Order: sequence, then structure tokens, then C-alpha cells
Amino acid sequence: MPELPEVETTRRGISPHLLGQTIIAALVHHPQLRWPIPVDLSERLQGATVLNISRRAKYLLLQTSAGTLLVHLGMSGSLRFVDAGEPRLKHDHVELEISNGMVLRYCDPRRFGAWLWAGEVPEQHELLISLGPEPLSDAFDGEHLFLRSRGKTQAIKTFIMDNHVVVGVGNIYASESLFMAGILPTRAAGSISRARYDKLAECIKVVLDRSITQGGTTLRDFVGGDGQPGYFQQQLNVYGREGEDCRSCGSTIKKKVLGQRASFYCTRCQH
Ligand SMILES: [Zn+2]
Repeated sequence: MPELPEVETTRRGISPHLLGQTIIAALVHHPQLRWPIPVDLSERLQGATVLNISRRAKYLLLQTSAGTLLVHLGMSGSLRFVDAGEPRLKHDHVELEISNGMVLRYCDPRRFGAWLWAGEVPEQHELLISLGPEPLSDAFDGEHLFLRSRGKTQAIKTFIMDNHVVVGVGNIYASESLFMAGILPTRAAGSISRARYDKLAECIKVVLDRSITQGGTTLRDFVGGDGQPGYFQQQLNVYGREGEDCRSCGSTIKKKVLGQRASFYCTRCQH
């Protein structure tokens, strides 16, 4: 499933080829994604110029002269550029014909992604309005986590994976950040000190940053390639390593299901 670093990598991969271009045609071949693609989407996009491409959580925001398009990659979505006339693949559900002669194709085998119209004020869109801060922004820090967690008895891992608290901390990133910060994933969010939250916020930024940097090596795959950014090539310390030795202390990595998600940790390094 594309996580925040993969979505950010996609944004960086498609932006140079899309910015300033005019959309000649928007073709919807299969409108049934997670939500139906609006019937007037093609009409709205036709002739519009792409002004900016940004990201909010795992949503891509294509700001055009006609308004903003919201794209979510869901479980299996990807975007790639192909030359006009290249045969469409089975799961290519949407395509944008661009004035530079290329076609942006959206492939999504599981059809759990989204193409929605967000109009003039995308930040007010119902899917975006209640989201927490971006993890790599200055608005996200130890103080934010500390204040939001007071009185909370839920596990710290579940807490940092809540989109209302902070966006984009997926399961792998949560496990890895908590290991790096030395915090046990089962610890109650409300019992963690301000100093430890400062450390945790820093670790979340490092883990996500590292992954985005790794993705940067795959940017050219968005033209003619499969549009799949490098999925998490960084070395994992705990995630998926149950029963293996901790890279730091040699103890055995444990696994526990928290909030229905597998969590991995070292009881000697994390407390
Ligand atoms: Zn350890």
C-alpha cells in the first residue's frame, strides 16, 4: 500500500512533466473506485492548465485553472507517464492527455483509490478538513504530541497512527520510529513525558525523511516505467523481524497485535 513517502515520491516524479501543461482530455474508463469518479470530471479538466501539485497526508492535490483535483492511490494505485498511443493496460482506469504529447495513466488493480473534485478550497474538503498536521512540517513536534496525548490511555503506537493526531505515520513507520525513540509501543500515550515525545517526533521525521530520500532514486520510473516508487528500501530494525535478533542489543524481537495492526519491538531497547 502506498504510504506517505511513496505518495510524496509520486508527487515529485510526476510534477516536472505536468506543471504548466494543459490537459487536452481526461478519459475515465472505469469510474468505480473507492468512490465513484464524478461524472463531470472530464468536462471540468478539459482545457485546464496544471498550476501546482501538492500533497496533504496521502492525497495528491492537482491544482488547475479550473479547480483542484484530489487523487488518492488507495491500496494499489500508481501514476505513470506513457507516450500517446501506447496500449492501455487492464487496470489503467483513468488517463489525462497532456499538451506535451504524453499521457498520465492511473493504474489501480484493487480500485480502492480516489479521483475526486475538491473545487476552489481543497483544504475544506470533507476528506481533508479534520486531518492532523503533516509530520515533516514545523507544526508537528513533541509539544503537539504531548498536548494531544494528555489523559489518553490508548497505546502510543495506535495514538501516532491516528490521522487526527498526525498524518502519514503508517504501520511500518510507527514501529520503526518507536524503536528509534526507545519507546515501547504498548505504553499508554498519556503516560509519556514531554522529553520522550520530543525524541519521538524527531524520530518520526527521520524515518519518513529517509524513506522519501530512498524514493528519490526512483523518480525516473514515472516516465515509461511502472510508476511504482521504491517501496521502503531502507533497512528495517524491527518491522517484520519477529524472532530475529535486535540489531542493537541482540535480544529477540517480539510481535504483538495492537489496534488490529502487527507491532514489532525489542523489550530491552524499548520501555
Ligand atoms: Zn534491543
